[in-house]
Amino acid sequence: MRILLLVLAMVLDVVLCSKFDIYRQGQKVTPYGRLVEGDIMLLNERSVGERAALRDRRYQWQNKAVPYVLSNSYSSSEVAVIKSAMEEYSKLTCIRFIQRTTQRDYLYISSMDGCWSYMGRIGGRQDVSLASRGCIYKGIVMHELMHALGFEHEHSRPDREQFLNILWANIDRNNWDQFQVASSFEFDTLSEAYDYRSVMHYDGWAFAKGKEPSMMPKQTGVDIYELGRGLEEDRFTKLDLTKLDKYYCR
Ligand SMILES: [Zn+2]
Repeated sequence: MRILLLVLAMVLDVVLCSKFDIYRQGQKVTPYGRLVEGDIMLLNERSVGERAALRDRRYQWQNKAVPYVLSNSYSSSEVAVIKSAMEEYSKLTCIRFIQRTTQRDYLYISSMDGCWSYMGRIGGRQDVSLASRGCIYKGIVMHELMHALGFEHEHSRPDREQFLNILWANIDRNNWDQFQVASSFEFDTLSEAYDYRSVMHYDGWAFAKGKEPSMMPKQTGVDIYELGRGLEEDRFTKLDLTKLDKYYCR
């Protein structure tokens, strides 16, 4: 069995949009698993396959419904933000977040350490951390819920080198693993185009150690401010919706 507690140097909060500006760095011992790419929690006892949540239908939620329980420590305004993120899914996709009654598999959403989620349905109660301090923004909740539905970061796509220049010199070496590229075994693009504005894309200054950006778009005509625009503006892109539709609704 793997060591239960892994010490990893990483940034915990995936609060990446400059408007939120609360990056936090440090060493992390976690009893829940190990955090990768800032906000994706992997179980300690499983490994690579788990990153392939989208490819492996075992990690898909059944009947287009995701049962959840919200911690009762949230204030009513925090609950309103979390529910407004869930409503984006019910307004625009076939996916429904429903209050858990007796379902075996469900999300338990609470204010733990930072903003993070597992990828896809892992079975039983699974935590989603949305810390009261720093994570209660509609776009961030949409992002973490999309991880819980099985989706990876857009900037980790196997073909991302065609679309992004990672400016390694502007990123602290401890955070280089935030920018790893997934293999095509791990990452299913669902045959859709690269989406700079996705809710699942970080902004151009994510994990930058200074004022210089950490990534730049390669495609001409794409502005750096377009990176992660959906996350910052609390809305799904057309491509986000197409992918959610392909995976859950057809
Ligand atoms: Zn994320």
